Amino acid sequence: MSFRKCPACGERATCESVDVGVGIIYGLYGCQCGWSEDEKYDIRSGPKYENGYRLDQWGGLHKQNSLQDLKNTITKNIFKITKEEAIKKNICIDCKQPITDKSFYSLAGQKEYKISGMCEHCFDKACGF
Ligand SMILES: [Zn+2]
Ligand SMILES: [Zn+2]
Repeated sequence: MSFRKCPACGERATCESVDVGVGIIYGLYGCQCGWSEDEKYDIRSGPKYENGYRLDQWGGLHKQNSLQDLKNTITKNIFKITKEEAIKKNICIDCKQPITDKSFYSLAGQKEYKISGMCEHCFDKACGF
């Protein structure tokens, strides 16, 4: 590991080299404060993501599930189907009935289907009406 002074906070920034077998990857200098030698990896203003990976200030990529993946997993566990699948099949995510004119009695309900994947009857039930 090598060191240099962090230009952002004056603490010690570190640079790690990783031996990957076929060669050594030299990381970027990065500091605990989030400063990175490469502006692209500078996370002082908050975490950065690229292609679903979280970047760290040392030039690393961390695989992580996006929030959408997480939501889909949760929905799938409850309904055994994702909202996207339900809408594609044109069925209600909850009662699994095909979506017809009778599935909604208001324009708001029709709009809600695109958001929640539920027919208006199920949506009302879910909301406690
Ligand atoms: Zn720093
Ligand atoms: Zn339904």
